[in-house]
Formats: sequence, structure tokens, C-alpha cells
Amino acid sequence: MTLKNRQLGFINKILPVSAVDGPGNRLVFFLQGCNLNCIYCHNPETISYCTACGKCIEKCGGCAIQSEKNKIVFHPAKCLNCGNCLENCIYNSTPKYFSYGYREIEKIIQNYSDFISGITISGGEPTMQPDLTSTILLIAKKKNKSAFIDTNANCDENVMEKLSCLFDKAMIDLKAFYSEEHIRLTGSDNSKILKNTAFLLKSKKVYEIRTVVFSEEKFMTDNILKIAEFIARLNKTVKYKLIVFRKEGTRKGHILKTPKDEYLSRLKKECAGIGLSNIAVN
Ligand code: SF4
Ligand code: SF4
Repeated sequence: MTLKNRQLGFINKILPVSAVDGPGNRLVFFLQGCNLNCIYCHNPETISYCTACGKCIEKCGGCAIQSEKNKIVFHPAKCLNCGNCLENCIYNSTPKYFSYGYREIEKIIQNYSDFISGITISGGEPTMQPDLTSTILLIAKKKNKSAFIDTNANCDENVMEKLSCLFDKAMIDLKAFYSEEHIRLTGSDNSKILKNTAFLLKSKKVYEIRTVVFSEEKFMTDNILKIAEFIARLNKTVKYKLIVFRKEGTRKGHILKTPKDEYLSRLKKECAGIGLSNIAVN
């Protein structure tokens, strides 16, 4: 089988045009699979691969999900978009993702080429599927489009180094500076994330760094200011975005809160006091 015919990996969703996933109009590929499990995840169904347990089949009013030869097969034309399959999957997965190869990706990019200025690969986590991610990035460059990845940076350094030769900029989610806090929020340690973020900052490959603000307690303030110090040591002008926690789309059972405007303004001012010149609240 030639490289161009091989299936390269799994994509959850393709958004033809987005104005919020980097500069300009962008075609966005949302890949399936993530190596973190954040308590505030807005797309928990992108975290895991389907185990083919079959539990969502009976919940599907549209008969869009079937089991064939121990595999789950999804029929998009029959889907009512009711969300029952996602709500009832206990594995943080979905039956609604597909595998893609070179030719299919090239065709998709070609189809939208006239309407977009760039391509962003998001997730899930793009660095978990380096073959698929590098192929999308290569095709994007071939079509003269800017190529971005939206990443948690939780991968081996050699993977990030190789991918960074292919993308223009990265948008990095840096959830916590202290390891214990990061484990509490995501289930994983952040040592690789800090190393990769430092590497990308030094290489001038960062478009923005983002942290979700979900509390007004001291630990949240300490965390944000520590991240601001870390960024300021390496690049004072890179954009640091404080993302305001909103509960829509998140899983049930957490006690996270949307912070008030006064708290966010104070945080922004304190980050500026540390030396960052480009701070956004969103
Ligand atoms: S959203 Fe899921 S459960 Fe609902 S019709 Fe589509 S596949 Fe079936
Ligand atoms: S999507 Fe979830 S519930 Fe449905 S078959 Fe896969 S693992 Fe089971």
C-alpha cells in the first residue's frame, strides 16, 4: 500500500470555516484522542477511542449506529444529532469519528482552499497522531496556507521538535504550573508540557498560551501568576489568554465557577505587572 492510500488516523470533526481558531478564516481538523482528562473539558467525547461496547446503539433514535464484525459503524445520513450517544458513553468517546488518508485530506483542503487563509489542527490532541498531523501540515504548506496546531504540548520532545518544523505557530493550553495542581486538573503530570512550551517559546513558534480560570481562590491566582512569570522569562510579548470558565458542554458533577469580571481584571493587571504586554481575557 502506498503512503497516499494508507489510512493515517482518526478525525472527530472538520469545521470548514472558523474565525476563532487562529488568525483569519481557518479550516479546522478536530482529531480524536487526548492524553489528558481535564475536569473542565468541553469536548469529553474526543478523549478516548470507541471500545465498540455497543451501549450507544440502543440509545440511537435514528438507527445511525450499527455493530458490524465487532466494529461500530456510524451512518451520518441517519444521524438526528440528538446527542444521546455522547451522553450515554461512559468511555468519553463517540461512534461518530472516521479514519482518513492522504487523498481524502488533500481533497478536503482543496475544496475549501479559496475560502480560508489557514488550517488549524485541534482535538483531542494533535501530537498523539503525528503521522496524520504532519500530513495535514504538509498539505497545508503545499497549498500556501498558514498551518497552526492547537495543543496541550503533552508529548515527547522529539515529536514536538519534528512537528514544529512543519507548523507556523502553536496555540498552547497550559492548565497549571505546579505539577500537583496539574495532576488534580488533568490526571497527568506537566513536566513534558513545560519543556515543550519553553522550547516553542524560544523557537518563536507560539501564537498564544491559554489558561482556563475556574475559581477566584488563592490557588488559582498563584497558578496564573506563576505561569505568567514562566512565560515572561522566555517571551514577554507573546499573547497570554485567560479563558473564562463556562459550564456549557462540560461534564456533570464538578464544582467549578465562572469568575467575576473584577477578579479577571485584577488578574490581568497582575500579569501585566510581571512584564507580559499582550494579555487577553476571553
Ligand atoms: S447523535 Fe448519536 S444517538 Fe443521536 S441520532 Fe446521531 S448517532 Fe444516534
Ligand atoms: S461510542 Fe461509547 S457507548 Fe458507543 S460503542 Fe463506542 S464506547 Fe460504546
